[in-house]
Amino acid sequence: MFLCQLCGETTPPRTPAARVVVRQRPKQYPFRLHANIFWRLNDEGKRKEHKTNDPGGVGWEIAEEVLACPNCAARFLPEVV
Ligand SMILES: [Zn+2]
Repeated sequence: MFLCQLCGETTPPRTPAARVVVRQRPKQYPFRLHANIFWRLNDEGKRKEHKTNDPGGVGWEIAEEVLACPNCAARFLPEVV
């Protein structure tokens, strides 16, 4: 039982709350040299350290999230900032 943050109605008991993203923003992730370090066996069966780079890139980041009833969650589309 909770107050839906989109329609303001109180839900009946045992209704699951849905997390709805109401605002998102573009995000740029930087290139990271040797971000991942792991061990791998070489041809002689010895453990050898390997490093890979994180290429970075672009994506979306959640700016605002609310708790909503299943009805509101089903028909809500996030706003892009
Ligand atoms: Zn609602």
